[in-house]
Amino acid sequence: MRLPGARRYPRRVAMLSVHTSPLDQPGAGDAGGMNVYIVELARRLAARGIEVEIFTRATSSDLPPVVEAFPGVRVRHVIAGPFEGLAKEDLPAQLCAFARGVLRVEAGHERGWYDLVHSHYWLSGQVGALAKERWGVPLVHSMHTLAKVKNALLADGDAPEPRARIIGEEQVVEAADWLVANADDEARALVDLYGADPRTVVTVNPGVDLDVFRPGDQARARRAVGLPQDAVVLAFVGRLQPLKAPDVLVRAAAWLLRHQPALRTRLVVAIVGGPSGSGTVEPDGIARLAGELGVADVVRFVPPQAQRELALWYQAADLVAVPSHNESFGLVALEAQACGTPVVAAATGGLLTAVRDGESGVLVHGHDPRTWARTLDELLADPERRARLGAGGVAHARKFGWSVTAARTLDVYATALASTDRSVAASQ
Ligand code: UDP
Repeated sequence: MRLPGARRYPRRVAMLSVHTSPLDQPGAGDAGGMNVYIVELARRLAARGIEVEIFTRATSSDLPPVVEAFPGVRVRHVIAGPFEGLAKEDLPAQLCAFARGVLRVEAGHERGWYDLVHSHYWLSGQVGALAKERWGVPLVHSMHTLAKVKNALLADGDAPEPRARIIGEEQVVEAADWLVANADDEARALVDLYGADPRTVVTVNPGVDLDVFRPGDQARARRAVGLPQDAVVLAFVGRLQPLKAPDVLVRAAAWLLRHQPALRTRLVVAIVGGPSGSGTVEPDGIARLAGELGVADVVRFVPPQAQRELALWYQAADLVAVPSHNESFGLVALEAQACGTPVVAAATGGLLTAVRDGESGVLVHGHDPRTWARTLDELLADPERRARLGAGGVAHARKFGWSVTAARTLDVYATALASTDRSVAASQ
């Protein structure tokens, strides 16, 4: 029996991540912040004694059906469609097969195996809605990105998200007991653009691993990543896609060099990450642009890095640019700040939360490369301001630990379970 007022937490959570595996290296393809989010959340929940099973689509015949990723966290590979070569756009046609695989796993256990479903991204939400009804458990859903927001802020030439996704997202909003938004901006969009009941929307900010991303000696970091000590380093980190606008940094660098030719021998624009999905800004495309602008010699491409190596890139940089057209949060901005490197970010979406303008970094309105170049230039010329922002960034990042994310998510789970308990009691 539970004590009056005691909260019930789930023993076992089915976490759904249809389109991307938490075991993938983030920074290319479909693997990005959501992968980091799921891994970090699952690990922290498991540390609190909750078993987490993450269901994802099997993308290779070599993958075992179940992998113990961390103590208390299992990844289940569900066969749904061909292993390789299936684009994200084709995944809606595989959702029935995926759902069948999830339901089959649950059917192999005793009744009531999972206490709660937490789905990530709308594709998983579709499967979560079905599992919720079959198992009689609450559905907590995190969208991570929203098609209506993305379509309103498209980069030039980027393909809009299809209507089918918007309809799918609306259905998930309708089905979910709780919607967890990454930042207040996303929470508002869920209510204003998707008609979500504000009482069921809660903002839980993601976190940053402060053991991995921490200030370090810049000279040591530069030695480790092979950058000259006297270099002026501007870094972009993330998947190369139009939404992230790496081209804005390249154009800004070209403008800087036109106005300060002496900088050419020292400037390095480091672009860390790989191509991603449809409408990709291939490294080739960025390299071509850099060639056309006459700055190919300063642009350095770095393939996706594991987080510990990535920390060295943040520490090695003088500034990290996040020129995205939109971010539901923008983990890269937080990680760079945790490393003590000032961030110059676009004033949009979750970046308004991830960066405190003038305290931990600088927010830039719009994507005009000249405005970006001027902002970068002013900061490069002012080491004291950079040091102040760097310290402010470390302080700001410290407010965002993954344990806080897990604790707040657990509160959402407990509230969701309490309302299910009440509805069960009412129907008896
Ligand atoms: N990332 C990484 N290696 C790379 C580039 C990126 O591990 O080479 C990670 C980065 O640390 C961050 C995530 O990918 O945690 C990107 O998250 P963000 O929220 O910035 O963007 P998203 O990918 O979700 O759009």
